[in-house]
Amino acid sequence: MPRAAGVARKLCAMSDAPDESAAQRWYEGGLPFSCTGCGSCCKSHGEYSHVYLREEEARAISEHLGMELGDFAAAHLQVQDGWLLLRQGDAQCPFLGEDARCGIYEVRPVQCRTWPFWTINLEQKTWREEVTPVCPGSRDGRLHDADTIERIASATEDWYEDRLERWPGAPFEPGGPAPPA
Ligand code: SF4
Repeated sequence: MPRAAGVARKLCAMSDAPDESAAQRWYEGGLPFSCTGCGSCCKSHGEYSHVYLREEEARAISEHLGMELGDFAAAHLQVQDGWLLLRQGDAQCPFLGEDARCGIYEVRPVQCRTWPFWTINLEQKTWREEVTPVCPGSRDGRLHDADTIERIASATEDWYEDRLERWPGAPFEPGGPAPPA
């Protein structure tokens, strides 16, 4: 079972990902992935250094931790270019434990749940040069068929569309406690 796939490149770049039709997709034969629990994806790797959140994801994490949302926001959130994201400490997800386990696994964000099958990662060069070097689980493991991969990737697209539709440009839920800028 995948562990928290935490620190990652901007999901908002997903809209720039190529539109791979079934006839074109290079991963038609499937892609391997079985999480080894190494925690590598929860650490910063160049552009892979952000965990984006939707407001309700922040709320779920704060409740899971038994924190008031405002306190959680002050401690763990930041806003960048109008997007809400986890503040990284020591170039890694703040919830990555010393044992490489995720401290919020049950309520981890969609971004973490869907790694490495993001739309932006389904470009062959990206997969080869940016995903597999970071994630040993993507170099070996259970074969996921192309339709399953795209179903998982669509969750990140839905996340992105929903985020823009409901809060265009808004850094945080209207009326809710504002995270520090
Ligand atoms: S880098 Fe890959 S194998 Fe390692 S914890 Fe993340 S998903 Fe699992």
